[in-house]
Amino acid sequence: MAIGIRLYCLGFLLFVAVVSASLREDNAAVERFQKYLQINTAQPTPDYAAAADFILSQAGELKLESETINFVPGKPLVLLKWPGKDESLPAVLLNSHTDVVPVEAHKWGFSPFAASIDPETERIYARGSQDMKSVGIQYLEAIRRLVADGFKPERTIYLSFVPDEEIGGAEGAGVFSNSEKFRNLGVGFVLDEGLPSDGQNYRVFHGERSPWWTVIKASGAPGHGAKLYDNSAMENLVKSLEVIGRFRASQLNLLKAGEKAEGEVISVNMVHLKAGTPTPTGFVMNLQPSEAEVGLDIRVPPTVDEEALLRRIAEEWAPSSRNMTFQFKSKVPVNDMYGKPAITPVDSSNPWWALLENAVKEAGGELSKPEIFPASTDARYFRQLGLPAIGFSPIANTPSLLHDHNEYLGRAEYLKGIKIYASIIRALGSHFPVDGRIKDEL
Ligand code: ZN
Repeated sequence: MAIGIRLYCLGFLLFVAVVSASLREDNAAVERFQKYLQINTAQPTPDYAAAADFILSQAGELKLESETINFVPGKPLVLLKWPGKDESLPAVLLNSHTDVVPVEAHKWGFSPFAASIDPETERIYARGSQDMKSVGIQYLEAIRRLVADGFKPERTIYLSFVPDEEIGGAEGAGVFSNSEKFRNLGVGFVLDEGLPSDGQNYRVFHGERSPWWTVIKASGAPGHGAKLYDNSAMENLVKSLEVIGRFRASQLNLLKAGEKAEGEVISVNMVHLKAGTPTPTGFVMNLQPSEAEVGLDIRVPPTVDEEALLRRIAEEWAPSSRNMTFQFKSKVPVNDMYGKPAITPVDSSNPWWALLENAVKEAGGELSKPEIFPASTDARYFRQLGLPAIGFSPIANTPSLLHDHNEYLGRAEYLKGIKIYASIIRALGSHFPVDGRIKDEL
């Protein structure tokens, strides 16, 4: 055989070997994702212990330092540490929640905790495949690849796997972010979950709306159902509902006209109405009740003037002049603990942002214009502390099926996400901000 042909054959064999090695790696990464998805961590009875065991086994393979913290008994938070060469630099925290929302299994085409792959479409079907076991395992898979490449971060990278996000996070990221433990980590930047995007670009979030769960009560003199008089509880409540309805319509119009995005308007929705005097079969029909109430789910963008909205509620929606009162069942502050809007800057004032944006680009991805997350995530707890936090899930070309039936993530999209995170973690791990700018490779 001529030398040229022999070299060609050798080259070809090498190529085949590299391709099959990377295919093996990809398959193993998919299998680990499936294993994580198969642990049933659905609320209200998540198997947190099994999830913690799984994460600890991964950490062991990667030789990451690990710790299980039970801020609340039965709700373990797993904290992993990849120590940086210079521990005095601000650290990065990669956060993900381990719980998922419940399923109506009979409405799924695939069993929601089997993590089966549809052979035709290569979609991995499971609860948590988008929200957000994908992200948790992608962080780990990205680190696995960086470790294999011999990469060592300059700054420390922490990974927190937190419980309870799907039921508000107070006993998960809430207690963690307010703990002495967290303060001692020296975290300077946080990554958390985002939302899938239908298009080619990834969605990215730098703030979120604060839930204000409000109950408005009206009271008034009770009276005979046949009597006409002013200021009954029902009449006063209905007046308020008209005012609230007009406000809601104005916000909806902004949304419909495309003037504002979902995260930029104040949403107000009635979630309960309570009035009337019950009987075993219905309600008393000849009695005007002395009390009536409405429950509202209000979502407030971080750009809104909190005081002005409070005045609006007090003066227009629940005025004492109409015998009305209001109370918050839950009210997440719009501003951070320093009184500033809880938004992470996405301009040159935030060096972390530039690092993130470039790292995604370098891995062949593109970010959309940063948005305000329309609902809530754990990121709010970190923004509350004044920390920069970005919500990002590397899922493009995929419909958003969070909390929906048949939640899935495509195999290729999952694997691409690992590359994206490897690029992000490498960038965040090897640069540091100086005077608001990023110094090049250390
Ligand atoms: Zn989530």
